[in-house]
Amino acid sequence: MSSSRKIYLAYPRGFCAGVRRSLETVEKALAVHGAPVYVLHEIVHNDFVVESLKKRGVIFVESLDEVPPKSPLIFSAHGVPLSVEEEACQKNLRVIDATCPLVKKIHRKASELEKKDYKIVLIGHRRHPEIKGTSGRLKTAPSVIENIQEAKAFHEYPSDIRQIACLSQTTLNVEETKDIIDELKKNYPNLTESDGICYATLNRQNAVKKLLEYCDTVIISGSPKSSNSTRLKELAEKAGRKAFLAGRASSLKAEDFADSISIGISAGASAPECLLEESIAFLRSIGWDCEPEEVRAAEENTVFPLPEI
Ligand code: SF4
Repeated sequence: MSSSRKIYLAYPRGFCAGVRRSLETVEKALAVHGAPVYVLHEIVHNDFVVESLKKRGVIFVESLDEVPPKSPLIFSAHGVPLSVEEEACQKNLRVIDATCPLVKKIHRKASELEKKDYKIVLIGHRRHPEIKGTSGRLKTAPSVIENIQEAKAFHEYPSDIRQIACLSQTTLNVEETKDIIDELKKNYPNLTESDGICYATLNRQNAVKKLLEYCDTVIISGSPKSSNSTRLKELAEKAGRKAFLAGRASSLKAEDFADSISIGISAGASAPECLLEESIAFLRSIGWDCEPEEVRAAEENTVFPLPEI
């Protein structure tokens, strides 16, 4: 590690193709239908993005009862249960589905497996909208496993069951998910691994791992509500680095960086680049006037077409 102070930027970082698509969907819906446009749940888990959209006439709701008939209603990138789609249709709402195509792929896969009589195990966070959405695509509620302890204690089916499959939330930690699957396989040797962690999550985690080769301290721009941003911070912490999750740079404190020599910065898939620039500006304001150097872990060129608006 160099003795002179350095700032490194991870690449890929920030918005993934699914988040970009959902935000462009909101922009286009505002242009086509005019304000207000309704969005079920936060479009992405980032307060800065959500507050900016509110100012432009986007109304975020938690229930379809809050949406007047015939209004445009956008489903967020995380996806929704089938019952929500049906309710929106009954209420005569103009549904615009911004569910990420990679989440949709998991919905399809889960339904296919269920039709083939597989028992489904979902690895992810029970309260996360993505897990609620995927669970709500199935006729029988799947088993949800959040962590290794739950995997160890999972004995819901006989061990010799032949048709059992697991899928995972798209934004989990790669190694932890592998450990959970390995643990499940100890009791269920026939467990089939299906879709899960997406390319963007994998790339952002690999980019932070690359930062760790150079940095003693890591700043992740992203909201504590954001699963993928939180995983990036945890990844740095588990490697023994000082790590901070910055919803806004105003949460950072000069004294936390007094002993740092080399700081790595990245952003979760729901965090806009301007928030990362805030963190760089903060470091400059406390004397880190070096030019940031980019550390590249992968190239990204995924673009998803917009839904019908
Ligand atoms: S993190 Fe992955 S699954 Fe989620 S919106 Fe982005 S690309 Fe889609």
